[in-house]
Amino acid sequence: MSLNQSDILDVVIVGGGLVGGLTALLLAQGGVQATVLDAAPILDAEKTQGVANPRVLALSQATIHLLQTVDVWDKLARQQPYTGMQVWNKNGYGEINFGHAAEHTPRVEQALGSMVEPSLLNLAIQEKMLEQLQDYRTQVKVTRVEQGVGVWIIHLADGTQLKTKLVIGADGANSFVREQAFIDLDVLDYKQAGVSCAIKTVQPHQHVARQIFLETGPLAFLPMASLKAEENGYWQSIVWTLPDDYADEYVALSDAEFTQLLTRESHHMLGEVLEATPRAKFPLKARAAQQYVRDGLALIGDAAHVIHPLAGQGVNIGCLDAAVLCDVLLTDKKRGVWAHEQTLKRYEHRRKGQNDAMMHSMSAIGWLETTTFFPIVWVRNFGLKQVENQTMLKDAFMAQANGLGALKDTIYASK
Ligand SMILES: Cc1cc2nc3c(=O)[nH]c(=O)nc-3n(C[C@H](O)[C@H](O)[C@H](O)COP(=O)(O)OP(=O)(O)OC[C@H]3O[C@@H](n4cnc5c(N)ncnc54)[C@H](O)[C@@H]3O)c2cc1C
Repeated sequence: MSLNQSDILDVVIVGGGLVGGLTALLLAQGGVQATVLDAAPILDAEKTQGVANPRVLALSQATIHLLQTVDVWDKLARQQPYTGMQVWNKNGYGEINFGHAAEHTPRVEQALGSMVEPSLLNLAIQEKMLEQLQDYRTQVKVTRVEQGVGVWIIHLADGTQLKTKLVIGADGANSFVREQAFIDLDVLDYKQAGVSCAIKTVQPHQHVARQIFLETGPLAFLPMASLKAEENGYWQSIVWTLPDDYADEYVALSDAEFTQLLTRESHHMLGEVLEATPRAKFPLKARAAQQYVRDGLALIGDAAHVIHPLAGQGVNIGCLDAAVLCDVLLTDKKRGVWAHEQTLKRYEHRRKGQNDAMMHSMSAIGWLETTTFFPIVWVRNFGLKQVENQTMLKDAFMAQANGLGALKDTIYASK
């Protein structure tokens, strides 16, 4: 739909990734049509589904619930539920199991969450936005975002100007919206890198996510769905946190050298590592926006916070931002108020403290000894041994990690 340049829109979302897309779909469900601007092109469904992405996102129960709410979950071409988590120290001084990691036959219906390839998530979100939104623009270049009197003006490279009462910055870690709104950023460089790829093992993963603390850093084996039905159950995405120099060295190894190294370092826990896809390396940095909102503007997802990617919670806390922001906006809209300063402040109040606390808890314990999974960070604070025998502590942890508590007081509470 083309809009008259003089129209003042209710909301423009810059960034149509998982978090921006989810926000637009939740708003549409609540009767508010957002204009979504994304720099990326529409993905080709066949190509995207036909290639396995070596990286997976560990989605919490809350994220899955939100994706079900907007009818995106069933659009995913494949996903791998996990029913247990197992963590141990290479030196053998502790082990802890969550969910059904200790059972011989894991019950898939009791999943702790699910591992999903980011490309498949983006495809499903795009498809739903194309169905539901009246104004979803891709391959758009935003050149300026400026505050006018009671409106924000968004300038596009083709000369279009959009005026809006509310701009939502969902444009990722290097957010242009954040920069244009002069919101400062705190950055913590961990001086480490993550190395990630997909691997196939001799023994099946049995729907369990595994994590070993090695001298070099934590190594995670995350179950992933396979492209070939006969290989289902044997493929995993690994994420290895390493000092920068080790990461360079391991990425440069041949496939054979790398699979041998992994087999050795994982103590043959799933037998020999048979295959590995090319390794990707990514630097590890935490970032926190000093404010999430300004008058008529809100930041969500990675635009507001990037936590250690290996914590496995980045997109989950971004989806909680989306839910809480839509909750306050739609609740106030029913009272005849749209995107008021106080509405946005309520969003910031409900999300920033929680997100900052998660970020600080990870930074505080030092990343040379830390882990790929937020659950594990929590566990290390208490000691593996003590926690393994404490059902109440483990239950408390699971309640926090599944994210459902943060949805409790919103219109998206899970029944
Ligand atoms: C290696 C790795 C492993 C991870 N593992 C996990 C995990 O297991 N679990 C988890 O929850 N999280 C994980 N994360 C974090 C997760 O990937 C991010 O938190 C998540 O992708 C953020 O989503 P987003 O929508 O905020 O941003 P993005 O996914 O970055 O999306 C931003 C969107 O904005 C668009 N955009 C950018 N700039 C502009 C612009 N100027 N104009 C218009 N559009 C723009 C982009 O095209 C994109 O569509 C991991 C991250 C990494 C790097």
